[in-house]
Amino acid sequence: MIIAIDGPAASGKGTLGRRLAEHYGFAHLDTGLLYRAVARVLMDRGIPLTERDAAAEVARNLDVGHLEDDARLRGAAMGESASVVSAYQPVRDALLAFQRQFGAKEPGAVLDGRDIGTVVCPDADVKLFITATPEERARRRHRELLGRGEQAEYETILVDIRRRDERDMNRSTAPLKAAADAMTLDTTHLDADGAFQAALDLVESRRASMTRA
Ligand code: C5P
Repeated sequence: MIIAIDGPAASGKGTLGRRLAEHYGFAHLDTGLLYRAVARVLMDRGIPLTERDAAAEVARNLDVGHLEDDARLRGAAMGESASVVSAYQPVRDALLAFQRQFGAKEPGAVLDGRDIGTVVCPDADVKLFITATPEERARRRHRELLGRGEQAEYETILVDIRRRDERDMNRSTAPLKAAADAMTLDTTHLDADGAFQAALDLVESRRASMTRA
């Protein structure tokens, strides 16, 4: 069983993915971390993000199963850099097999990202597309950063989110978009528990129609 979750930056898809995976006892992969890890290696080596060939080489040699997961990897700067290198097709190609293998885990897997329902797992049993307005996403990110004691300006975060949306939606390779058979969930007016319950209801309705079929 594969649950594919896509959506824009800070839509809450990562939290939803983790909670759905816990609920069903499935494995969970936040695929954004793979692109962030590629960007991190380039930055650590002082290689400009515009070096496509170097980025592809890093992606091919990435130890995908053992990423060092820390605050820097998950920070805003790395997200921005990830969205630059993720637009390169050879980078995406290099990370595809690992994601597909992950999707084959038993008894099931939840993968979240931008192209899970469209490219990585087009045959996923359940596809969710999670959205919220840019303003609401920026508010959530702002609250989260302040909660961690980090300096953060709402306006700056909103500009960053709009720029990342623009780049992720308009790139030629695997752009962010809902798969034709995805169920869209707008979480603008939902809190974390409300979003989880709504997502669970959608997954259950799909599972029920699968058993009927
Ligand atoms: O989801 P997250 O913010 O960690 O993703 C960082 C960046 O990685 C995104 O802005 C996007 O450009 C890229 N990404 C992608 N495909 C995925 C997951 C993330 O292109 N499946």
